Amino acid sequence: MNRKVEHTDAGHEVGQCSEGERADHGAGCTAGEDDQQIIDQRKLDGRMGRIAHKILVLSGKGGVGKSTMAVNLALSLMLQGKRVGLLDVDIHGPSVPGMLGLEGQTILTEGETMLPVELGDLRVMSIGFLLRNKEDALIWRGPMKMGVIKQFLKDVDWGDLDYLVVDAPPGTGDEPLSVCQLIENADGAVVVTTPQEVAVAAVRRSITFCRKLNLPVLGIVENMSGFVCPHCGETTDIFMTGGGERLAKEMDVPFLGRIPIDFNIAASGDAGMPYIERYPDTATGRAFAEVIRPILEGSPTAGSPLCERKEEHMRIAIPMAAGKLSQHFGHCERFALIDVDQANKKIIDKQELESPEHQPGLLPHWLAEKGVTVVIAGGMGESAQKLFSECGIRVLIGAPAEAPETLVEAFMAGTLKTGGNQCDH
Ligand code: ADP
Repeated sequence: MNRKVEHTDAGHEVGQCSEGERADHGAGCTAGEDDQQIIDQRKLDGRMGRIAHKILVLSGKGGVGKSTMAVNLALSLMLQGKRVGLLDVDIHGPSVPGMLGLEGQTILTEGETMLPVELGDLRVMSIGFLLRNKEDALIWRGPMKMGVIKQFLKDVDWGDLDYLVVDAPPGTGDEPLSVCQLIENADGAVVVTTPQEVAVAAVRRSITFCRKLNLPVLGIVENMSGFVCPHCGETTDIFMTGGGERLAKEMDVPFLGRIPIDFNIAASGDAGMPYIERYPDTATGRAFAEVIRPILEGSPTAGSPLCERKEEHMRIAIPMAAGKLSQHFGHCERFALIDVDQANKKIIDKQELESPEHQPGLLPHWLAEKGVTVVIAGGMGESAQKLFSECGIRVLIGAPAEAPETLVEAFMAGTLKTGGNQCDH
């Protein structure tokens, strides 16, 4: 059941145990710090494992248009029919809710899991949804900030996504560091700068920061580069431009393009009307499209990180008895683990494993550890389904007692019959 969280102090739930964790450790939840870290990591891995591409939007300093870029990138991906999440963990200025007209929204939760706010097909989560007013963020202490960043990454139920765009905190300090470290297998970072030398110096630090973390740089965007006349639409270079491109060359990273200063970007952001949706055919709209195109195409420049992504694989688990799906999930003899190539809808590998000894709450963690992101089951109790969701595993119940390959093929073809819960426990 949904529980509405009214504006609350951030970090409030950090460190508390979820029901899954209590099931593992007994009612009193005496998990040590190490255990807690393992549990958190599994949860995080489970959630992130269901997202094909993760893109961080970084900047060396605030006010250069990082959130504007994150919002317009996420929307462009959505407009191309992708399943997209937008996560705003910019503690210093969570401006995403305002830019999308979502100010005042509260977060719904299911147990420890937070549900993203839906805007059409875009799923949005922002630190801004937790604040009573915009100034609150400024008074959080360091550990509280880290706690809430971690909680946002591991406890938000994004479901299956093609892209997660993350609006990270600015700079190269502890906060962006923890975001980059927590999202271990990100595709890379889009680094936003303005043309002036001071911002370019800051972006140089951002690129060094990415390199130290082994985070690929997808490219640099030079924002506020030139000025679009609101009357005639012509672009004039009133300040120096080209700093971003020079820096990209010097540091050997892709240059994604320039976005001019356009009054309508600021006005759209303030009005909660994303620019790219409203003005796709202006010079600035086309500039956004140009910047975003290589990311959409998955190939910012030859040899860049998105080019090297392999086909996407998914691991599906099926409880087994006598060679077929077992209706008694918690007491099945074995699990079939089937790897599929999602792009080509093909089974690429199959293995069978003995079930571990029966212990309440163990199976979701055991399967998450094995890289499973989908379970096809006959029956399953509601509390077990919740534990799987907390581990980032999607569960399909009500499947018939068939051979695992038959079920997986039907799943990939979209013809698998599911629905009714067969569980009699
Ligand atoms: P950051 O996330 O780096 O702090 P924002 O994306 O919040 O920066 O942008 C700061 C302000 O500048 C916002 O009011 C935004 O609407 C405005 N802005 C960003 N890019 C442009 C642009 N190219 N032209 C005009 N205004 C812009």
